Amino acid sequence: AAVSEDNLRSPICCIMGHVDTGKTKLLDNIRKTKVQDAEAGGITQQIGATFFPVEAIKQKTAALQKTMNLQYKLPGLLVIDTPGHESFTNLRSRGSSLCDIAILVVDIMHGLEPQTLESLRLLRAKRAPFVVALNKIDRCYSWKTCPDSPIRDALAQQNEHVIREFEDRAKKIMVEFAEQGLNAEVYWRNKDLGRTVSLIPTSAISGEGVPDMLMMLTKLTQERMSKSLAFVDILQCTVLEVKVIEGLGTTIDTILVNGSLSEGQTIVVCTLEGPVVSTIRSLLTPHPMKEIRVKGEYIHHQTIKAAMGVKICAQGLEKAVAGTQIHVVGPDDDIEELKDAVMSDLTNILDSVQATKRGVMVQASTLGALEALLEFLRTCDPPIPVACVNIGPVHKKDVVRASVQLEHNKEYATILAFDVKIQNDANELATELGVRIFTADIIYHLFDQFTAYMDNIKQ
Ligand code: GDP
Ligand code: MG
Repeated sequence: AAVSEDNLRSPICCIMGHVDTGKTKLLDNIRKTKVQDAEAGGITQQIGATFFPVEAIKQKTAALQKTMNLQYKLPGLLVIDTPGHESFTNLRSRGSSLCDIAILVVDIMHGLEPQTLESLRLLRAKRAPFVVALNKIDRCYSWKTCPDSPIRDALAQQNEHVIREFEDRAKKIMVEFAEQGLNAEVYWRNKDLGRTVSLIPTSAISGEGVPDMLMMLTKLTQERMSKSLAFVDILQCTVLEVKVIEGLGTTIDTILVNGSLSEGQTIVVCTLEGPVVSTIRSLLTPHPMKEIRVKGEYIHHQTIKAAMGVKICAQGLEKAVAGTQIHVVGPDDDIEELKDAVMSDLTNILDSVQATKRGVMVQASTLGALEALLEFLRTCDPPIPVACVNIGPVHKKDVVRASVQLEHNKEYATILAFDVKIQNDANELATELGVRIFTADIIYHLFDQFTAYMDNIKQ
């Protein structure tokens, strides 16, 4: 084991939890940027990845290094901020292998909320290790700000009312965890990391407890997961998003979970028009501490090792499907087999819905978003039947497909478009034919629009 434990990859950490608990803000605090401000409704719509190199972690945990006897064996930490609904699907399917550890963010003022419970169920089903950030500690009445300080130092500065409020709220949340069948304890009193969840009080605004959170992530992954973090050279790389970048052409943003990629390699990618074989022209990453979504200069790599958020430049990837896996063609590989393999995720989903004759058309930006939306429509009350699906912008041909419903169920001649653009001529044709297009970049807004529309028809 000694050999492999010397060569660890960076763990991938997902941030989960109820809307508005401060997931994005916590990440912003660590990297000191302002991604959260620019988002639609403050909700993260696309998965973003941020790589924290070990140097940055060392710096941010320096105040705790001695007392906690912290060592640094990992190259860094790759953190993925997931939007509410999509995170579930990502954890449930492909993405489950994507996360090594999770941070479950709980608003200390609110305790466990519906999406917290959802996240908990998934984490437990996956047996994924996680820590809890008890965020917004600064909202305890008359909290004295101690910027970026370890939480116990910050608590030592507070008056006894603040301490009492904190202890009361933490107690209450422990009881709520107990109701879910989970032991939880404030991390410095946690004597059994294997069976008791650690609660880490944090403030994403002033940074108290953030060093503790990074320290616990480092400790837990290094000490308890060194086997699963051993670097293996088997490629696991998921497409997040297709992007056209000035001067680079079409690129795909990916998460390299395991293995490595090199310039010049032949890859097979799943696209809406079938499998595409292409050559990696360049491999780019943003500068450390910056999110892949934020514009800026890129660093070029000849070879890159997991885990990392990587931008790949290659030809023919315009229609690559977000959420699918990339394969590299090795010397012994059969290209035809790889072509089938890359298409299987997409064809499975497309096949599973096209069974229903009568229903709406659903169109989304990524495979994960499509899955999330389909799951949502299936489980809402009453369920909304889906006749066909597509990924990417809405074109005229999509409107034509939806218009088939006009013959039997006029109300189903509807396109629910999630986080995608509608082409002008598609909009015109829809008006002409009487096909409705509802657009939203938050899933439940689509549901609200459609149910309001259905209620209207029934009256
Ligand atoms: P997300 O939906 O979980 O990503 O939550 P956001 O990061 O978008 O934060 C939601 C809101 O809570 C924003 O208005 C933040 O400014 C606020 N917020 C987040 N963290 C804290 C915190 O630690 N303290 C306080 N006082 N407000 C916070
Ligand atoms: Mg967010």
